[in-house]
Amino acid sequence: MSLRAAGLNTAVTAPDTQPTAEEVLDSQALQPQFAPAVYDPFSNGYGFTPELPAPEQPAADALWLVFSRDSLLLDGSSELPTDLPDGTEGVVFLGRQDGREAWAARLTTDAPEGFKFSRLRGLYGRIPDWLWALGGFGYQIVEWDRTHQFCGFDATPTVPDKGERARRCPECGLSFYPRLAPAVMVLLTRQHEGRPQILLCRSPQFPPGMYSANAGFVEPGETVEHAAHREMKEETNLDIRGLRYFDSQPWPFPHSLMLAYTAEHVSPEEGGGEIVPQPGEIEEARWFFHDELPQLPGRASISRRLIESVVGSLPD
Ligand SMILES: [Zn+2]
Repeated sequence: MSLRAAGLNTAVTAPDTQPTAEEVLDSQALQPQFAPAVYDPFSNGYGFTPELPAPEQPAADALWLVFSRDSLLLDGSSELPTDLPDGTEGVVFLGRQDGREAWAARLTTDAPEGFKFSRLRGLYGRIPDWLWALGGFGYQIVEWDRTHQFCGFDATPTVPDKGERARRCPECGLSFYPRLAPAVMVLLTRQHEGRPQILLCRSPQFPPGMYSANAGFVEPGETVEHAAHREMKEETNLDIRGLRYFDSQPWPFPHSLMLAYTAEHVSPEEGGGEIVPQPGEIEEARWFFHDELPQLPGRASISRRLIESVVGSLPD
């Protein structure tokens, strides 16, 4: 049983903090529960079950997800094609969506007549959530398949493994699995003039006016919690304590898994650093009261949910 199914997801805590039972109960009370439809874009929570090996022949009612890079092929009614278009490559079986076979492939030519490619990111809210989530999974698998056609050691063409999601080198036996890059996000809170504030940062790549929680990739040899401390120190010079796990989100652009936390600020009076944005990474890092928030990331992202959840849970 998953932690969420057990109703325990809000009580999971980073190993560097040992909350009392009272604090755990508190955090459960503070964090709102979301219905799955808005809770987990890109999770497999919408009736999809990954499956291997692939059937010998695709079923007549199979779902076909055809990609050109990160764009999905849809017809004028935002429906998937009912057949595999001519010229597709790299056909992979994904699994079953509510019992129907789901297959994916890539197309390097223009969209067939009556269809067009739309960037998956921009389709959030315009196609059903199950299709967006399935599209995210399909895109990652198709991209992994495309970029692992040869062994990285001896350049021999790889072959798909029938039993698991892997491509194998028949020469040296190396296996290549879909990549997954863990990343950590931290929303920092503090009390200022008797009121709570959150720290939001601007990356130079963000659209004008948009701010988000601080985030970065976990590096080899690190725990997620170590990365949370390091990223905050590197990018803002701030020190944190009381890391508390919030939730995670698969993000297929291109293959990350975001683990989101909240943390408390260690003030300069307590030995913590002052804000110094890291050049090139952070344009600005600022404290915000909940009633003066800037433009936030889109609703599909865990950062938006983290910020709204924390802001909603802070006392006025
Ligand atoms: Zn090899």
